[in-house]
Amino acid sequence: MNQTMVGLKTHSINLYKKLRDDPEYPVGYHHGDGGIRLANTEEQMQGYRHFASMARGMGVEFEVIDAQECARRHPLISTDNLLGGVWDGEDGDIDPAQLCQALAFHARKAGADVYRHTNVTALTQHSDDTWTVETDKGSIDADIVVNACGYRVNEVGAMMGVHHPVTSMEHQYFVRYCRSRTPDAAATLSDQRLLFAAGKERSFGGVL
Ligand SMILES: Cc1cc2nc3c(=O)[nH]c(=O)nc-3n(C[C@H](O)[C@H](O)[C@H](O)COP(=O)(O)OP(=O)(O)OC[C@H]3O[C@@H](n4cnc5c(N)ncnc54)[C@H](O)[C@@H]3O)c2cc1C
Repeated sequence: MNQTMVGLKTHSINLYKKLRDDPEYPVGYHHGDGGIRLANTEEQMQGYRHFASMARGMGVEFEVIDAQECARRHPLISTDNLLGGVWDGEDGDIDPAQLCQALAFHARKAGADVYRHTNVTALTQHSDDTWTVETDKGSIDADIVVNACGYRVNEVGAMMGVHHPVTSMEHQYFVRYCRSRTPDAAATLSDQRLLFAAGKERSFGGVL
């Protein structure tokens, strides 16, 4: 965790609040349910203390808490081998499909055209620095190209001879579906060493 991530987080929260409160196209956003990053080594705890003090300098509060406090704040936590964690009181969750539609809605309102189901197949830069973007539905002239292709970013980067310092990670998702017995665990959980994250899946009341 670094200053860039704190800055991105602050920007995202402000944007998501605006979208949630937009009467024209409201988005389901639960802000402030909280989240815990767990630690089972003293080194991780030191890292969290360093991070919390750096974030405080940027006006963002994180709380370093011990194992008992972690368990008190999240009913699914066992304190076995746990030293503590860092609590992010601003953590929350947003409906990703609604978010995507809301961003497209506002982009269109601001004058953008959105072409769905259109693959970029080649990018050519001209001597005046403008671009031709080839797609499977025809070509588009552009002054600026932004490559925001997610885990395919390097496939599209290669079309302009650029390698981005980004790599894809493979994950597995485990869904705990037990509506009647899932404790009320709204906060998100993650463990950087064991590499897992868990959050409430609101569509069916379980844990993802
Ligand atoms: C199951 C799941 C759960 C997740 N949960 C969380 C979470 O709780 N919190 C969190 O912060 N993150 C979560 N993530 C990660 C998060 O979804 C991604 O980090 C985020 O969506 C990346 O956004 P992006 O805009 O960079 O890329 P993407 O959302 O991947 O968008 C890239 C777009 O580029 C398009 N594209 C790719 N290649 C081409 C091409 N050649 N031509 C045209 N278009 C192209 C794709 O179709 C896609 O629409 C989760 C991811 C998954 C899969």
